[in-house]
Amino acid sequence: MENIKSELKSRHILVVEDEEEIVRLISFHLEKAGYVTHTAGSGPEALNQAFEHVPDLVVLDIMLPEMDGLEVCRRLRSDNKTASIPILILSARKEEFDRVLGLELGADDYMVKPFSPRELVAKVKAMLRRLEHLTPPAQATSNSGEKIYKAGDLVLYPERYQVTVNAQPCALTHKEFVLLQILMANPGKVLTRELLLDQVWDYETEVDTRTVDVHIRYLRQKIEKDPAHPRYIETVRGVGYRFASLKG
Ligand code: CA
Repeated sequence: MENIKSELKSRHILVVEDEEEIVRLISFHLEKAGYVTHTAGSGPEALNQAFEHVPDLVVLDIMLPEMDGLEVCRRLRSDNKTASIPILILSARKEEFDRVLGLELGADDYMVKPFSPRELVAKVKAMLRRLEHLTPPAQATSNSGEKIYKAGDLVLYPERYQVTVNAQPCALTHKEFVLLQILMANPGKVLTRELLLDQVWDYETEVDTRTVDVHIRYLRQKIEKDPAHPRYIETVRGVGYRFASLKG
């Protein structure tokens, strides 16, 4: 699980904007808040940078030379490597930006210029906090004070290394357990096969992303009432898996 922890180190933010003054302003305030910033002044440059060094978050202007921000957003979302990066869209005026289209294309949030840098930093922080692996919303505390993950009738006890379904112990292999813990720690978030492979199998050779699919299938057979219509682990076609956001 070292990989999960190391992600808490400095967050890298890619700022995509062609107006230099705005780039400087945004970068300055993000760096002051402790983030590492990278910049790109056009759509193609943004894609090159994002694919080469996958950032933790992208601040993306709509009006860009060569390729607009919506197209950049669409392409980031359609590549496994960058599909789940949070994207904050910037637009010059309300009417310029079709909010629904932006959100449909996969933007997570948007801001209308002019905005205060403080507001932008607060938004970035909130977006990253949503992804925080170690303070997940599905986490709860049992009566004995133990940290647990709970969703519906499914409970995972990290310390006891145990999973119960409907209060009955459920026997999982080590990989299945780790896989389920990562999914439950990130409810509502799409996790790519590559990320899961990286986190659970940790550079073992002999495995590829189909291994993830196979283990998800086994896991569903053990935890889902109807594995053909999973309630907990949802498939995000072409990308990966998502643990459903369930209450209690
Ligand atoms: Ca612009």
